[in-house]
Amino acid sequence: MVSGILSRMISWFFKFGFWLRRPEVLIFAPAVALCSFWFLGEESLILLALLLPTVVVVTWQRPPTPEAARLPDVLEGLSLRSQIIGSLDKILQDAPISGRSSACFVLQFDDSDRLLTRFGRAAQVEVLARSAERICAVLRAGDVVARLEGGGFAVALAPVRRLELEALVQLASRLQSAVSVPVNLDASKLYVTCSIGFCHSVNAPDLSGASLLNAAQIAADEARRRGPNAIRAYSADMARSRAIRESLRADLERALEEGQIRPHFQPQTETFSGEITGFEALARWYHPEKGLIPPAEFLPLIEDAGMEDRLGEVILYHALMALAAWDKAGLKIPTVAVNFSAQELRNPRLAERLKWELDRFDLEPKRLSVEILETVVAETANDVVVANIAALARMGCGIDLDDFGTGHASITALRRFAVRRIKIDRSFITRLDSDRDQQKMVSAILSMAERLGLATLAEGVETPGEHEMLAQLGCSHIQGFGIARPMPLDETMDWIPRHRGHLSKVKSLAAHR
Ligand code: C2E
Ligand code: CA
Ligand code: CA
Repeated sequence: MVSGILSRMISWFFKFGFWLRRPEVLIFAPAVALCSFWFLGEESLILLALLLPTVVVVTWQRPPTPEAARLPDVLEGLSLRSQIIGSLDKILQDAPISGRSSACFVLQFDDSDRLLTRFGRAAQVEVLARSAERICAVLRAGDVVARLEGGGFAVALAPVRRLELEALVQLASRLQSAVSVPVNLDASKLYVTCSIGFCHSVNAPDLSGASLLNAAQIAADEARRRGPNAIRAYSADMARSRAIRESLRADLERALEEGQIRPHFQPQTETFSGEITGFEALARWYHPEKGLIPPAEFLPLIEDAGMEDRLGEVILYHALMALAAWDKAGLKIPTVAVNFSAQELRNPRLAERLKWELDRFDLEPKRLSVEILETVVAETANDVVVANIAALARMGCGIDLDDFGTGHASITALRRFAVRRIKIDRSFITRLDSDRDQQKMVSAILSMAERLGLATLAEGVETPGEHEMLAQLGCSHIQGFGIARPMPLDETMDWIPRHRGHLSKVKSLAAHR
């Protein structure tokens, strides 16, 4: 009898070991002693007297886990990567005999970085815990859920006889719906979305759990790239294009390191006087084999590789160096404009980094124009982006709203972001001199800008006719092939005096008329 009680107690100990680690459990010691005496007699008291100190020593000897690092029970209860690989290994080994198949899912949150930077670790853990509960509720007994290191989850389905692609997609979207129910955090609600990749066991590149999980991970990465809220099934093409992307990433890293990527500069001038007010820095890749590659071709790769910050650093450095070089040559160029991607604007240290770079070149902040796409300003609800733009404006940098007319920035947004100038998108400027509708549109934009006290710049001015019409309509600045194409820094050194020489010739001709 004693051995029966003992073995039951040991099994409870292992089952509820987590709770035994809490000191509050000692409150129940007298009650447990009384009950065991009542039901099991004196023997049990002796056993308890022996067992209780042992339990306390064994369970409490480890230093207590710091509160911040302890995960909620629902997360602690999930498998880890190695365990789900073990489960998948077993499923794959049994498959030929049982004739059943399975699938592995990987679920990744679309904006996990934002969640962490904006709401902190506690909120991230809360989202993970609630998501884990909901994921488990959607699945069936026998399915295995694991938490992954980067904050995602993996699921191994219990093997079944027939597993169609459609059923897998439906399950993925049920998981997505479960995760997208808002999570209550203090007084607010957190909205999260996730992207899911999966691989059917018959499509695993190798007959191993690790390979099946890796295939689902590749599909999940692809889904996240196409996300938010995307679902992708693994295909062999994905693995190939991932390998290509990885090699391109290595190429890009080298290109940025070795100075193969640097800007060309396109002048911005006053519409009436033709005076140069600045240059816009536009990235170019001097590829050792493929020659000059325009940004439209390599910016998506930079985005895919998450290297926007690095590109931004390189272009900013070259742009400020150009200003310093023009100053040194006595060329008096007032400003240089740099394009900032949405990703760069999400960096909480952007303003600090910019200030440091300006100080390093001993340049005043007002000499840097920050170009931000209208779409970014229109769509952002991100506090870091708002704070960054405000900090740059406060520092004295000019904020130019790029591609104006292609997004839907509200007038409130123009005010909130302290926009100094709007850059009217090229699509409104093409054939401006001959197209009445274009003229109406540009007039409307210009009068709105005037009422709001904003300067204006027309992009993509190609012909003297367009230039002339912009002067008539009252646009203050222009930029485009009609004045000059973007050029390398050393070419600007000749172009600037040539342009100025041309201007003074025109002026003296006008004076003599
Ligand atoms: P954007 O900022 O709107 O830059 C203007 C683009 O229009 C440039 O293309 C420029 O070469 C082109 N352009 C200028 N004048 C004319 C014209 O008269 N006619 C025509 N057809 N095109 C003209 P580019 O250099 O190919 O850059 C394309 C886009 O790539 C830029 O558009 C900008 O959004 C992005 N980009 C370029 N450099 C950077 C960078 O360093 N960082 C970031 N984040 N984006 C960049
Ligand atoms: Ca621009
Ligand atoms: Ca533009």
